[in-house]
Amino acid sequence: MKAVAVTPGKPNSVHLAEMPKPQVSDVPDGRGVLVRVLKIGVDATDREINEAKYGAAPPGYNFLVLGHESFGIVEAVGPNVTHVKPGDYVTATVRRPGSSIYDKIGRSDMTSDDVYFERGINLLHGFLTEYYVDDAEFIVRMPTGLKHLHVLAEPMSCAAKAVQQAFEVQRRLHVWRPKSAFVMGAGQIGLLSTLALRLRGLEVYTLARSEPPSLKAEIVEALGAHYVSTKQTPAEELARQVGKADLIIDATGSSAIAFNSMQLLGNNGVLVWTSVTGGLAHVEVPSDKVNLDWVLGNKLLLGSVNANREHFEMGIKDLALAEVFYPGVVQRILTTPIQGLDNYQQMMQTLVEDQAALKVYVEVAEG
Ligand code: BGC
Ligand code: ZN
Repeated sequence: MKAVAVTPGKPNSVHLAEMPKPQVSDVPDGRGVLVRVLKIGVDATDREINEAKYGAAPPGYNFLVLGHESFGIVEAVGPNVTHVKPGDYVTATVRRPGSSIYDKIGRSDMTSDDVYFERGINLLHGFLTEYYVDDAEFIVRMPTGLKHLHVLAEPMSCAAKAVQQAFEVQRRLHVWRPKSAFVMGAGQIGLLSTLALRLRGLEVYTLARSEPPSLKAEIVEALGAHYVSTKQTPAEELARQVGKADLIIDATGSSAIAFNSMQLLGNNGVLVWTSVTGGLAHVEVPSDKVNLDWVLGNKLLLGSVNANREHFEMGIKDLALAEVFYPGVVQRILTTPIQGLDNYQQMMQTLVEDQAALKVYVEVAEG
């Protein structure tokens, strides 16, 4: 079967590879789930992997099959699989366990190992192919009623984890009633974080460079949040106008903005960083000022990566709730389908060049 792969370490190496079709019995103990791939989303991580800034091939291979945002239909299951059956729509988690205690308790998203295993990203082949097989542990059922949101399950899981982690750590305060949030960036994680925070009743300001009108601004406003173009209103100006935020989620992909956000957080607040920045940027920060302000304000900085099945389940519930509160809005993120694995060049080019694309995804098969 066909697969879209890169040669890690070699820029712009995206190509078509040939892989054997996997079987349910490839997974031990009757726990295999064979999935026919329907759609796969691609994001900035795939772009950075193709730019040779990130990612590694599995041992014994000189290529890495891309694709970590999956949506498919179960074709067959092993005898010990009970939570999904043939015909069910599913997505899959991305990270697989390493050796730390967190991996052993089912929290590989919190691994303390330096080496991590992620399908389509690091040391494990991804889903941008025709079929995949995995342990039932990593297969998450998608309700048929959310079929139209397909590849958003994985990015939504990362947004759901970021928000859940923020609330979890803020239990340090005994009482935390956040009123306002700034979401830095209006890419898929920014938009889906905006959604998760609106569903929790926060006043949300979503900041991005470009000026409205634009689709992202429309989506933000349709979610009942405020779209702020930093060209019109720089972030510092917004903080002066509406006050510093109780919660900030950075999803810009810019470490400069991630650091700058430290100056926009209110007392007792939490700043969550979610961007994976594979580059080498250096920025200057007013460190004495930030240090003083953070100590005096008991502020907290939290990194959040990846997502476990519980976050996928939370994210899927948020997507379901979104259809009730904001019907038809989330699907507007799914802007840019690419037809078939053969169009991998177009997929990568669109991902790099199409500034208006909020979500590029490959339609691998009908279903
Ligand atoms: C993926 C996460 C992954 C992270 C770091 C993101 O694009 O969605 O699952 O943990 O990259 O590799
Ligand atoms: Zn991703």
